Amino acid sequence: MVDYSNNIRKKIFSQFPKVDKLIETETIKSLIQKYPRDLIVDFIRDILDELRNEISQMEEKKLLTFALKKEEIISIIQEKLVLSLKPKLRRVINGAGIILNTGLGRAPLSKQAQQALIDVTNGFSSVEIDLPSGLRGNRHDLVEDLLVKLTGAEAAAVVNNNAAATMLILNTLSLGKEAIVSRGELITIGGSFRIPDIMEKSGAIMKEIGTTNQTKAWEYENAINENTGLLLKVHTSNYKVVGFVSETSLQELVEIGVKHNVPVMHDLGSGMLFDLSQYGLPKEPVVSESIKAGADVVSFSGDKLLGGPQAGIIVGKKKYIDLIKKNQLSRALRCGKLTFAALEATLRLFFDQEKLIKSHPALNFMFKTKSELEEKAVELKNGLNSILKDQGETGIIDGVSEIGGGSLATESLPTVLVKLKIGEMSPEALGKKLRLSDPPIVTRIKNDRVVFDVRTLFDDEIALVIRAVDALVNPG
Ligand SMILES: *Cc1c(COP(=O)(O)O)cnc(C)c1O
Repeated sequence: MVDYSNNIRKKIFSQFPKVDKLIETETIKSLIQKYPRDLIVDFIRDILDELRNEISQMEEKKLLTFALKKEEIISIIQEKLVLSLKPKLRRVINGAGIILNTGLGRAPLSKQAQQALIDVTNGFSSVEIDLPSGLRGNRHDLVEDLLVKLTGAEAAAVVNNNAAATMLILNTLSLGKEAIVSRGELITIGGSFRIPDIMEKSGAIMKEIGTTNQTKAWEYENAINENTGLLLKVHTSNYKVVGFVSETSLQELVEIGVKHNVPVMHDLGSGMLFDLSQYGLPKEPVVSESIKAGADVVSFSGDKLLGGPQAGIIVGKKKYIDLIKKNQLSRALRCGKLTFAALEATLRLFFDQEKLIKSHPALNFMFKTKSELEEKAVELKNGLNSILKDQGETGIIDGVSEIGGGSLATESLPTVLVKLKIGEMSPEALGKKLRLSDPPIVTRIKNDRVVFDVRTLFDDEIALVIRAVDALVNPG
């Protein structure tokens, strides 16, 4: 078979506009009034290189359908240029229905946390000054009292994220010593957090015991020797082993730890400050329960169910937390004032549980009732219908939302979805157009239709979704 691909490629490349012609087009001329000309020219060169690369790697079938007309190539370049000039990190509308999605920045912050960020960045801040004495303060003190009150622990420290917290605790308490962990708890979270790797990097010696589905208390006890640094328990937050299963409870581990004078660490993953199951939601481990059971150090994330900024929170016995704070690694893993500002405001919300569900967006989404979801779905569907006329179809169907973030991973919440089809556009193409809308909208595909899960839409976002769809069907 003759390969025509190279001829087609040559033909496409010959249609490529010259840079000096491109910058004469109206769209790009107007961009040059706003941005430095050199920057624009630089971006255009990158885009042309990128396009050439794409085309060089395209298969013949795709090449044949690829836009050959000069005008079309120009509009592709213009589109890419406009996108390059926009910020990369932007607010996104989450129509996909995963409440805590690492890709979408996990927990959205409360209004109170947002306000705190504005306040402390508006000028200077008290991040490390003790205001009454005027002396140098310690940033750990900013939230330690709050964490102690909310968890019942003796002391607390905060670092960059829970991976950092885990690494820091292991390095402080088990450097060069054996940390005993069940084979059923050697988890991977989100691809890059792997307990065995974190343990190795921390300088602890991993001592695995038991089997995937069963680890008994005596196995921990048998593994203890004079070089044991730590007993580690990890909440297996993103999967469930069912069937012939038995794990050693934290309480049993604590008994063994006390008997042999070895500290017990509990990595809770998400961790919650109160019991969600009392409100009919799935149970997620409660930090104060681990403390009450006698864990020496407990770690959890700031941006999962807690609903705050990215952070790793460590609570536990004062003698261990003091060692952790003194470790030089904790200086390297420390958080900035922005994190402390948002975290402090988030923690304060938990003192008023009545208002909490209203002000804490992630909890608010979890607590949405079926009728609230239906009401939102109808509002979205009607709004879409009024702009679509006969250019598309909508509908309301049942579905499930995920809590996500490794929290309650095996649990899902029944929800209401609004499906959308525009003309003959494929769901993949429509999904892409929505992601490139302003603001970007992330959706899901179900039964060959783009769907919006109304659970994760803020009230004011329904109008934004309708406006974005309007811009797609009625351009100009
Ligand atoms: C999410 C999770 C982590 C990692 O937390 P980050 O805040 O993402 O660093 C660690 N352990 C468990 C059990 C988790 O669920």
